Amino acid sequence: MTYDQWKTASPYDGLGDDDVTNYECNKAFPDYESLGELYRCTYKYTACGPSVGALIFNRDEPKWLYCEDLYQLGSFDEMDERGDIVVKLSVGSIVEGCNFDAQTIEIDCSPYDSTNGREEADADVINRRFYTALSDVEAAVDYIWSQTHGCEDCDIEGEWGHDAINSECKTCHGEGIIC
Ligand SMILES: [Zn+2]
Repeated sequence: MTYDQWKTASPYDGLGDDDVTNYECNKAFPDYESLGELYRCTYKYTACGPSVGALIFNRDEPKWLYCEDLYQLGSFDEMDERGDIVVKLSVGSIVEGCNFDAQTIEIDCSPYDSTNGREEADADVINRRFYTALSDVEAAVDYIWSQTHGCEDCDIEGEWGHDAINSECKTCHGEGIIC
């Protein structure tokens, strides 16, 4: 999708480029001044250490930025001044000690008009989608961990043929092995 196609499908259709801002996305995360801060705090305070990404339009082809690279964008205000618009956010995680990637969930931040059959992404909707995605990723990480980190005495085969954690195991007491 190009910037023009995206804009035409949104309530910004017909408005000037200066009217396209990150107002709702900024309001969705009132504790953070930038996407970099959103990433850092999400990473710090979520056990699975999730990655956070953002799909950015700048009147041009969209580009994805992830984690520390989000700091390049500066504050939401600076993004508005440059015309960098958040179209999507993403939350994902890699399970440590094995190559399983928990699902990456994309969160639509475009203010599509609800008359197009899509929910308009105002601040509350963006906030709810982001934190729902975060808990879904956490649950996926917990599940993958439980299916792949059993100790030698757990004696259960997990979904992908690895040792799964047996909560009744006398050796690891349901903790599994730490990679
Ligand atoms: Zn065990």
